[in-house]
Amino acid sequence: MRVWDMRLLQDDLPTEKRRTEHIYDYVDSEENRRRVDQHFTKLQRKLIIGLIIGFLLPNALLSAYFHYQFTHTLRDSAILSLESVADNQKNSLDLYLRERIGNLYNLLLNPSATVPPTQATMDGYLRSLVRFHDGFIDVGLIDAKGILIGYAGPTPEQLGQDFSDAPWLKQLLNRDTSHIISDSYLDSRRAAHFTVAVRHVIQGQVYVLRATLDPDELYLLLRSTVHGSNVESSLVNAQGRYQVVDPKIATATDQAPFLPPATESVAIHEQDIEETRTLIAYTWLTEAPWSLLVSQPLAVAQSGMYQARLILTISLVSISLLFCVIIFFTIRKLMDDARRMAEKGHQLQEMLAHASKLASIGELAAGVAHEINNPLAIIMATSGVVRDMFNPEFDLDNSPEALFKELDVIDNAATRAKGITKKLQEMGKTRMPQTEPCDINAQVETVLARLKKVELKSKAIDVQFNPAEDLPPILAEAEPLRQVFTNLMLNAADAISDKGIITVTTAVQDSMVAITIADTGRGIPPQNLERIFHPFFTTKGGGQGTGLGLSIAASIVKHLGGVIKVNSIVGRGSTFTVLLPHNFYCPLDT
Ligand code: ADP
Repeated sequence: MRVWDMRLLQDDLPTEKRRTEHIYDYVDSEENRRRVDQHFTKLQRKLIIGLIIGFLLPNALLSAYFHYQFTHTLRDSAILSLESVADNQKNSLDLYLRERIGNLYNLLLNPSATVPPTQATMDGYLRSLVRFHDGFIDVGLIDAKGILIGYAGPTPEQLGQDFSDAPWLKQLLNRDTSHIISDSYLDSRRAAHFTVAVRHVIQGQVYVLRATLDPDELYLLLRSTVHGSNVESSLVNAQGRYQVVDPKIATATDQAPFLPPATESVAIHEQDIEETRTLIAYTWLTEAPWSLLVSQPLAVAQSGMYQARLILTISLVSISLLFCVIIFFTIRKLMDDARRMAEKGHQLQEMLAHASKLASIGELAAGVAHEINNPLAIIMATSGVVRDMFNPEFDLDNSPEALFKELDVIDNAATRAKGITKKLQEMGKTRMPQTEPCDINAQVETVLARLKKVELKSKAIDVQFNPAEDLPPILAEAEPLRQVFTNLMLNAADAISDKGIITVTTAVQDSMVAITIADTGRGIPPQNLERIFHPFFTTKGGGQGTGLGLSIAASIVKHLGGVIKVNSIVGRGSTFTVLLPHNFYCPLDT
């Protein structure tokens, strides 16, 4: 359907009004542009938010999951590393102690060993022990009564001393074991020592060969097998007293901060030592009643993890930011392109509308010229005839009757021309200078009452009106509205040749008021549907139609912010629906 544009008749309007029309057009197109702009801005925001959420959310969830897994793995690996140090050191210590026990056995099991030993034998023992390991301090042989019967070392005054009360000797003699390692003890110079003793039967008598060792040698062994920064190793006995410890931390026999429980394998314990959270791996030795403690500050143990986590976090944040920036700029570019395209489309539309207006103006001008020329030609021709009637040369009938007949022709032609100019004037008056809330039902009733008196009276037309209840009022001037209904109803009546029905219905459709005028007339052929709103298009012959009724109606309706829709089936009838917004604000009314 095509709605005729009011602005085609600008020339009929006073200058002031023409300017207003122009402003209205401008505001409309600016408004449209603003809407398109808003639409694209909203779309761009939505796209950016959507894509960023769509990318960032799964990314954040995945990162959180990997972060969790990674933290756990690294934490476990820090524990594992400490446990493995403890396990290695335990094996080294056990091996070390077994070797020392073996050193003593080698001497005692020597077939040439004689009891009681000579001093030279004992000195030889010490020499060979020191050759094996320079941690040996002295060596002595004790008989079954616990008396030291042979000695070589720095304190020869011990010779003859009774060791029967020494706990380690008691244990060795009473227990089922053939060797023993004592706890560390401090000598008179507060130097720490521990004793390794082996038992053997020589010539039917039990003898114990015992040697004193320097725990510092053990500490050096521990230090040499330590891996990792700030890792400290120490040995504690069953009472939790240090046996071997870094002299900077404590002295042998001092109480250690942690008493490890009995355990089969390496275990882990976490506690604060001097306000530092510390990870402790502990395990009990096989060869001595000592537990190995390998400790490391938690922060140091997990520093690798913190570093890796920091790098991971920085990388993830940087990648996410980079993606966000890429997404943002890509979308902005796409939106800018789309906006440009829309702008071009809009301009094209405006150009098309402009071209269509120019074409319509041409059409209108041609129509006006044609419509006015016809009656003018008739007037001119008839006045020529009248002139000839008084020319004796032509000998025409110039009786008053003949004269009136010609004057009637002139009158009819002039009336027709006047009709056309009047319609054109009406068309120009389709603006709404003063609007008021109009009751559509009441307006339809008025039009119907007027038409029933004259135009509809002559035909057998049944007019039915179905008014909607609670129809909201339309802000408009009543007369132009009535003109719309009149034009549509007259067309409906014209379309019915003999008898038929015209049904007028009012209703509310969405936010519009709908006035439907349906007839059971001849209908409109599809090829005419496009043209019926063109000015001067008419199928009514014999000077009955001006072809301006629908274009005037469409113009009025357009100014009220509405449209006219048409449906028609040839031979069955047509339905014209006027849709008017009931909350429309017409800028012309201000
Ligand atoms: P006019 O009535 O002077 O011809 P209009 O602009 O009112 O001018 O109508 C244009 C043409 O549209 C009519 O000549 C007619 O062919 C067609 N038309 C309009 N309304 C109807 C209708 N209800 N049924 C059939 N044809 C119609």
